[in-house]
Amino acid sequence: MAVFKVDPEVINGYVIEQFKKMAAVPRPTNYMEKISAYLSGWAKEHGFEHWQDKVGNVIFDVPATKGCEGAPLTILQAHMDMVCVAEEGKAFDKFNDPISVIQKDGFLTAEGTSMGGDDAIGIAMAMYAAVSDDVTHGPLRVICTVNEEGGDPSGAGNLEHRFVTEAGYLINIDSEDYATCTVAACGFAAYPFSFKCTREATVSGQRAYKIELSGLLGGHSGVDIAKNRASAIKAVNYILAQMTHKKIPFYLNSFNGGVSMAAIPPNASAVVVVDEANEGALKEIFEFTKKYFAKQFDRTEAGYIFTCNEVPLPEKALTAADSAKAVSLIAAVRVGVNTISQRYAGITESSINIGQIAFNEGDESFNLFVAMRTSSEWPVMLANVEFASIAAAMGVSCEFREQFSIGWVEKEGAKLPGMYAEAFEEYTGDKCVITAVHGGLECAAFSQWSEDIEIISVGPTVVSPHSTGERIPIETIGKTAGAIANLLGKIALM
Ligand SMILES: [Zn+2]
Repeated sequence: MAVFKVDPEVINGYVIEQFKKMAAVPRPTNYMEKISAYLSGWAKEHGFEHWQDKVGNVIFDVPATKGCEGAPLTILQAHMDMVCVAEEGKAFDKFNDPISVIQKDGFLTAEGTSMGGDDAIGIAMAMYAAVSDDVTHGPLRVICTVNEEGGDPSGAGNLEHRFVTEAGYLINIDSEDYATCTVAACGFAAYPFSFKCTREATVSGQRAYKIELSGLLGGHSGVDIAKNRASAIKAVNYILAQMTHKKIPFYLNSFNGGVSMAAIPPNASAVVVVDEANEGALKEIFEFTKKYFAKQFDRTEAGYIFTCNEVPLPEKALTAADSAKAVSLIAAVRVGVNTISQRYAGITESSINIGQIAFNEGDESFNLFVAMRTSSEWPVMLANVEFASIAAAMGVSCEFREQFSIGWVEKEGAKLPGMYAEAFEEYTGDKCVITAVHGGLECAAFSQWSEDIEIISVGPTVVSPHSTGERIPIETIGKTAGAIANLLGKIALM
């Protein structure tokens, strides 16, 4: 029987009110001062014992419900920063302007910007558990971290360990799928390839072309990697790799693409010089590539632009040998899903992505950053020798760390996942899936500090986080917060 019986609609009222208040506080990653002050003020106002550490993490302790003081300390944790993006053409100053949250057709969404549901909705849900008299709980600690979205300094990385190790359970509220209890996440291994390159003067009669692919979906290099999303870098590079394969010399002037190391590159462009006699061959290879690219991606990608147009001849370009080397290096690195998990159905175990290239006129070395996400050792062990071998064979450097983290691994015999699933099903009547995520979570850091703590990650559905299309089905907020409250009740009465 459910311990907690409050109507989800009632919970929504409070949670959405708190969420809107946080939306009014600008909080893009790395600009944490205002939101950190807001949260520590909130904890103070409610009379909770609280801490604000040197990086801005805010921690507060909520006394147990009377009679439940002996229950294990339980943490509710979420991050306070957000990836703040605005629609093209919208006048929006992310450092000063509030996010305007609207409720429409059963969804919470923002007007023309990302919403920051990832992850202020998690904090608002923790606030509900902290203040509501309807929630029965043991000693409760709320941890609001800074800079989860790749910022520096990282909140989880700098948190004093005792805040976590003193607890028996940690519930991270940063997952984006309703009715899901996440129990494992993956780690990240980086492979930076580099070589010095030489430019020489172009000669009259040569022609320059810009090959450009833009408007692809891109997306998260972990959770979106198995969705047949195209890598713009690989597609543009394919054309040049075909030139190498057919022994047609070309001279690379620039090659740029991608938006972040953690995203599938939605765009790429290269300016390449060819001898006049080879102009036709380049165009032919381009058309051939475009045709088969469309065939592969016509179900998943739409509205992209793939062009090859003549541009003014630059003064210099890479030698033919260095151009071929750069292109062969990109061609040699496989991207996409690498292995599939046998433990969690439908989840990618390891994947590889080339996130970004920036090679501009005047750059003296060509750098390529390759990243692997993995939740198991073997794939990354193979990747280590694979990438070291590619580097050695091609005469380029690749200085990667032999030490790697496979992220957060489910503990054998952990009770918390099953307890949450039961609490969830009792309260909502919906089935809860226990699974892993092919992405990073702060839980990976916390799980390394304590042998004993049990950790899960949950949350309402967040559609298209980090984008202007971000929205949350309101129904999933109250139901998830209620399931957490029901779980806290079970822990309190253990
Ligand atoms: Zn998040």
